[in-house]
Amino acid sequence: MSDTEYDYDLFTIGIGSGGTRASRVAAAHGAKVAAAEEYRVGGTCVIRGCVPKKMLVYGAHFAEDLVDAQKFGWQIEGKSFDWKVLRDNVLADVDRLEGAYTETLENHDVTIFKERATITGDHEITLESGRVVTARYILIATGARPRMPECKGAEHAISSNEAFHLDEVPKRIIIAGGGYIANEFAGIFHEFGSKVTLVNRGDAILRSYDEAVRDRLLQISLMKGIEFKFNTIFEYIEPCDDGRYRVKLSDCEEEIVDLVMFAVGRVPNTEGLGLENVGVELGENGEVKVDEFSKTNVDYIYAVGDVTDRVQLTPVAIREGQAFADSVFGEGKPYAVDHSCIASAVFSHPPIAAVGMTEGEAKNKLGSVKVYQSDFRPMKNVLAGRNERSLFKMVCDAGNDKIVGIHMIAPEAPEMMQAAAIAVKAGLTKADFDATTAIHPTMAEELVLMK
Ligand code: NDP
Repeated sequence: MSDTEYDYDLFTIGIGSGGTRASRVAAAHGAKVAAAEEYRVGGTCVIRGCVPKKMLVYGAHFAEDLVDAQKFGWQIEGKSFDWKVLRDNVLADVDRLEGAYTETLENHDVTIFKERATITGDHEITLESGRVVTARYILIATGARPRMPECKGAEHAISSNEAFHLDEVPKRIIIAGGGYIANEFAGIFHEFGSKVTLVNRGDAILRSYDEAVRDRLLQISLMKGIEFKFNTIFEYIEPCDDGRYRVKLSDCEEEIVDLVMFAVGRVPNTEGLGLENVGVELGENGEVKVDEFSKTNVDYIYAVGDVTDRVQLTPVAIREGQAFADSVFGEGKPYAVDHSCIASAVFSHPPIAAVGMTEGEAKNKLGSVKVYQSDFRPMKNVLAGRNERSLFKMVCDAGNDKIVGIHMIAPEAPEMMQAAAIAVKAGLTKADFDATTAIHPTMAEELVLMK
């Protein structure tokens, strides 16, 4: 399909999850593709997000497993934790994955420019080296970056980007935010022995999740020893001579801590891309505005993933990249990504997983709902003497028995949710779940035994 009028059929800016999928699939459809990345191939998910974070979550969980193991008869003499071993193994795996992503693109004949790219004119991209190329289509897939709030001394705080590279585990850390990243890293640092405080500007953590489930996480986190402060803001952060920081929170005494981390949302990366040179329209948060086919207001420019601030999740960016490439370069009919009923998880300790509407959302939307629940102590926790209860909740449309939401907090909840999400997406009913025989003894059987 190569177009001689332009150097490339597609030029992708940003080689993260969305950009990689779009570039690879467009190339497989016969397009001549180039892609530029100013940092590392793989993007946030692979390099400093989901993947290394999940490895740290695994690493952190051993802290509890090794304690629980004693109730199962295992004596582990002289156990100790070496952060640098875990950190370096995780970073080595990130290197491996970056290599694998690069190889996949190269195997599809995608030309990779490891430098910043800017749109400098119609169909024209200028690379940092000064080289100018042209493309029939341009895809913006530059992702998002951590939002760093404007408090005095904010520059002394780290974001999740730096958390993967620390020289040591902080003895005392304050994390700003109450969302995904704050709760996941609170669990990680706590399990590694840090004294953790989560500071939230509002009065709730994980606002988009069902209230019962997030309350359970709060209860369990408090029981483990994680501290929470609500309706609290940072007044200042000041460096001390010994490398630590003096932190003043509203309504609190000044305190000395080893580290402050901000996890207060992510900002779309749209600055300095030259979008204004061609009139690409941005939204209120600086996100690229797109239609259902990921097309911007400029006919040949598309955008996928976090930069569009639709749903900031890797699998969504991948689907958007795939749909873009199939629609623009494939033979079939253009199609849009269905952004409804997307399952998600928070890899806290224990993790949360959810699909569909919360009870509150369902009541607002449907009026009358039926709620089924299972509040249980997993067998492993019982034997381990671990006083942590799990909670499953199913929200149904009272009119037709259809399941409109499932919410869980339990060990391995995200693993169970993937299968349950298929049922919710398919529009199954509570009766369909009830008709399914349980697999005993499992935690997942509670899904078909809810009362
Ligand atoms: P979230 O959107 O999850 O949470 C942001 C938190 O920061 C909220 O508690 C919010 O409070 C608070 N906040 C927002 N703005 C400010 C501000 N200006 N000052 C103080 N507090 C503020 O963001 P994260 O940074 O945790 O994660 C970013 C995104 O990355 C997530 O939305 C998610 O899509 C993705 N992600 C997904 C993961 C997963 O799938 N497991 C893991 C990690 C990230 P309030 O509630 O009051 O608005």
